[in-house]
Amino acid sequence: MEYKKNDIVVIDIEDMGTDGEGIGKIDGFPLFVKDALIGDRIEARVTKLKKNYGYARLEKVLAPSSFRVRPECRFHRQCGGCQLQALAYDKQLEFKRRKVKNNLVRIGGFPEALVESLMEPVLGMEDGFHYRNKAQFPIGVDREGRPVAGFYAGRTHSIIANTDCALGVGENRDVLEVILAYMRKNHVSAYEETTGRGLLRHVLIRKGFASNELMVCLVINGKDLPAKEELISALSCIPGMTSVSYSINREKTNVIMGKEIVLLWGSRTIQDKIGDIRFSISPLSFYQVNPVQTKKLYELAVEFADLQGTETVWDLYCGIGTISLFMARKAKQVYGVEVIPQAIEDARANAALNQIENVTFFTGRAEEVLPEKYAGEGIRADVIVVDPPRKGCDEACLATMLQMKPEKIVYVSCDSATLARDLKILCDGGYALSRVRCVDMFPQTVHVECVVGMQRKHI
Ligand code: SAH
Repeated sequence: MEYKKNDIVVIDIEDMGTDGEGIGKIDGFPLFVKDALIGDRIEARVTKLKKNYGYARLEKVLAPSSFRVRPECRFHRQCGGCQLQALAYDKQLEFKRRKVKNNLVRIGGFPEALVESLMEPVLGMEDGFHYRNKAQFPIGVDREGRPVAGFYAGRTHSIIANTDCALGVGENRDVLEVILAYMRKNHVSAYEETTGRGLLRHVLIRKGFASNELMVCLVINGKDLPAKEELISALSCIPGMTSVSYSINREKTNVIMGKEIVLLWGSRTIQDKIGDIRFSISPLSFYQVNPVQTKKLYELAVEFADLQGTETVWDLYCGIGTISLFMARKAKQVYGVEVIPQAIEDARANAALNQIENVTFFTGRAEEVLPEKYAGEGIRADVIVVDPPRKGCDEACLATMLQMKPEKIVYVSCDSATLARDLKILCDGGYALSRVRCVDMFPQTVHVECVVGMQRKHI
């Protein structure tokens, strides 16, 4: 290898990796370049060389790709959040489809022709900005020691001040400016990760797109906040403000929220509506961040389940019962399972709020509750829906699903690598893929949601 670190090279970017980085070759040797796009000719500085590949930093775009667009956010290269903001939206969708397809073929072992024939077009968004109903801004200080809110610079924990993320709602800025002014006036310190000192760590903001209700939760490294009344009176003046709380997190950890929530003003939850189902959401509950696409996602899951009204349906990893309630309208009985107790509280309240009576929610791990209810109480399943976190389903959960022999399985996934791994186990256990469709829940990023329908094989 004749190249070395810090060499300046000219590369034609021919491909893109799973994290959105551009890939090009010098003398047949592949280099990965963050922020370079397929079709670009670039000048790059070699930063790291391994045996069979290397990394380089984009220095200059010599001839831009025809897929390059002007990024909306001026911080998009510094921030780790929007890996694809400079790529035309239809190409972003193509990238995501290919990523899922490759994982199904390489990890899942499914024949490429089968995957190609099953994959329906990705459901994209009309406007791929300002779609997020939730933001968690870290709080820190600038060089002069003044409090700032912003985002972590890619792969680091240093904060770049920006209260106006292009994916978030306009209200984020109003809320953060109020909190920063309150911090300055009352000398409230920002949390420092290195020392574990300082009070304010993060600010969680959620907005109900259908209700226009706003929730703010301050995550603090202490028991209480000074000058609370002043903070409350300023925050409660923001139009839509419905819930102000704080969460205590005194651990040295990357986990943002603490386990305890203390309500300061208003109600514990905010409400939102997806389709015609209303939801009540508390600060610790999982709720999909893109409500416009969530409606499409849930409708797709219901379509793939193809319910006739006589079925017993399980919704594993049910969160606040969103998919359960969508399914309940068309099924005989739905059982939801979720590990976070507050989410199950919300799920039960949501069933009541919508006068839906044919759902029962269980608190616990899917891999423990499902075997218990099946082997112990004999509850069966016609359809099982799973929507696990990124690490996918537990093996014990998959094994019980196979024992229960539901006619259909619907797998909703935000990580196509673990999806492919789990689909292989389910298909080896007697199921066949029937439908595959991606929903773009996270425009501008490399992430993609995928819904897969499976049918039991009758041999
Ligand atoms: N279907 C819901 C939530 C999906 S997110 C929705 O669309 O809103 C995944 C959920 O799985 C989270 O609420 C998380 O708390 C929960 N979870 C994580 N591990 C779990 C486990 N082992 N058993 C049950 N639920 C789990």
